[in-house]
Amino acid sequence: MDAMFVMGLALVITGICVKGTAASCSPGDYRVVDLSHNLDRNSLSFPFNVSFELSILFRGLEPEGYWFELNKISTLEHMGTHLDAPGHTFKGSWRVHQIPVDRLVGPGVVIDVRAQVAKNSDYRLSVLDIERWERLYGAIPNGAIVFMWSGWDVRYPDKFLTFNSITPGNISTFHFPGFHPDAVRWLLRYRNISMIGVDTPSTDYGQSKNLEVHQLTGGANVMGLENVNNLCQVPPSGATIVVPPMKVFDGSGVPVRILALVDKAGQPSRRCPDCTLGGRRPYPY
Ligand SMILES: [Zn+2]
Repeated sequence: MDAMFVMGLALVITGICVKGTAASCSPGDYRVVDLSHNLDRNSLSFPFNVSFELSILFRGLEPEGYWFELNKISTLEHMGTHLDAPGHTFKGSWRVHQIPVDRLVGPGVVIDVRAQVAKNSDYRLSVLDIERWERLYGAIPNGAIVFMWSGWDVRYPDKFLTFNSITPGNISTFHFPGFHPDAVRWLLRYRNISMIGVDTPSTDYGQSKNLEVHQLTGGANVMGLENVNNLCQVPPSGATIVVPPMKVFDGSGVPVRILALVDKAGQPSRRCPDCTLGGRRPYPY
């Protein structure tokens, strides 16, 4: 673990322990929520039909009598729950190793668009949705990581449900929600955000032809998070999000374990009918 990351984590812990200092803050003061899906051979990638592989190089007893396991993993960068580096869709923007570490930790903003998405699976998070959130919780804070919460994670990793198509090999048939380019333009112009994230396969909606949202965030050195899980367990405001990607030199993206630190003394955890810690309600076809 590198020193900067440890320092970042210490700041995070200080930040969410409102009353105390880092020294008085114990792990019991916050709840840690896992916002990633498992990375395995069922993991989904977009738009390439490539699977994650874990091959066993050794698993068994060594002659000296101790147990030993060693595997090799291979993956597309944009697999499962992953980070898009800005360089993914904008020439000259940051690649994975160039992202400053202070951009990998930030206040979480969760914008609930489940009602809109229930009526329209091609829904795009709008400026109106952002304004509605700000009326309730105040201006989006500096360095925010802004999530669209559509409830789509319960469909993952079923590719037919996730891409919402009976032909998931054909990109033009995809129907899932994302950010509207106007909403992203507004965020980039009026707020200072570090990332946007979605519980769907892409920050652009399924019917996008030119990845306009990706182009906008890429050009502004804002990262994207895709196939995010468990947003129902994160309050709309007040959580701290930690996104530590592997430091892949020249990478355009990388699978990532995303964590939300939720202050127990702060807002109560959200009632969560669609997903639970123990199990997952199957999505009805
Ligand atoms: Zn991606």
